[in-house]
Amino acid sequence: MAIPRPHRNLFYSRYLFFMLLLIYVVACAEVPITHRKSLRLVPESELLTMSLQQYDEVLKKSNLSTDQQKVQMVRKVGFKIAKAAEAFLAEAGQSANIKNYSWDFNLIEDDKTVNAWVMPGGKAAVYTGILPYTQNETGLAVVLGHEVGHALADHGNERMSDALVAQMGGMALSVALSSQPQQTQQLFATVYGVGANVGFLLPYSRLHESEADRIGLTLMARAAYDPREAIPFWQRMSKQGEKRPPQFLSTHPAPETRIADIKKYLPEALPYFEKTAK
Ligand SMILES: [Zn+2]
Repeated sequence: MAIPRPHRNLFYSRYLFFMLLLIYVVACAEVPITHRKSLRLVPESELLTMSLQQYDEVLKKSNLSTDQQKVQMVRKVGFKIAKAAEAFLAEAGQSANIKNYSWDFNLIEDDKTVNAWVMPGGKAAVYTGILPYTQNETGLAVVLGHEVGHALADHGNERMSDALVAQMGGMALSVALSSQPQQTQQLFATVYGVGANVGFLLPYSRLHESEADRIGLTLMARAAYDPREAIPFWQRMSKQGEKRPPQFLSTHPAPETRIADIKKYLPEALPYFEKTAK
C-alpha cells in the first residue's frame, strides 16, 4: 500500500532519525582511562588500510635518517611505549584491539620540521627537527607517549567521523566510503596530518589533547620514563613557540594550559614509574 505523501515524508524523516540514532549507538566506543564515549563511524579495517597506504607513501617521499644512533633511540623509546600501550589496552579490557597495531617507528631527516605523529595501527614518524627539544630518551617518550595516546583513544577516527557527518550528512556511511574513496583519503590525510597537507592540519581539540596527555603520561611511566619530565619538555617547546611556532605547537594548544593539565594527571601516572624504578 502506498503511503500518502505527507505521511511518507514523516515516515522517511523518522526512519532517517532512527537510522542515525542506531548508527550513533552502534558506532560509539569508549576511550580508555577517561571512559568518554566517542563517535567512530569509520570501520577499523578501512582506517588501517588507509593508514598503511599513507605511511608507505610518506616514507617513500621522505628522507629517512641514516644516523643509526638516533634511529635506534627512536625505535627503542617507540617500542617501549608500544609495549606499555599493549599492557594498557589489556588492562582497560581492550585486549581484542591489540591485534590492530603493528608498530613501526621511523626517523625522518628534516631539521626544519618540529613534529612527530602516530597513525592508526601504530605507524609512527619522528622528524629530526623535534630532537633538540626532546633532548633525550625521556623527552622523546613524552612526545611518543602523547602521540600513541591519540592513537589509542582513536581520536583520528572521531575527527574523521565528525567531518564525514558534516560533509556527507544523511548519506549512508558505507556508500560514502565506497563511492568517494578520494575524498575519504583526503580527509584521512588532513586529519592525520600526513602528505601534502602538513601545515594545514586540523588542530586537535582541547578535549583530545587533554586525553592524549593523560594517556601519554601513564604510558611513559609504565615504560620506566619519569613522567614529571613532561613539564620541562613543554616549557622548552613553549620557549621556541615565542619565536616561530613549530608545527607540533600549531596543531596542539597552548603549553600553559597543557602544563596545568599535566600537573593534574601526574599523580595518576607516577605510581607506575615508581614501580618500575624499584
Ligand atoms: Zn596532541
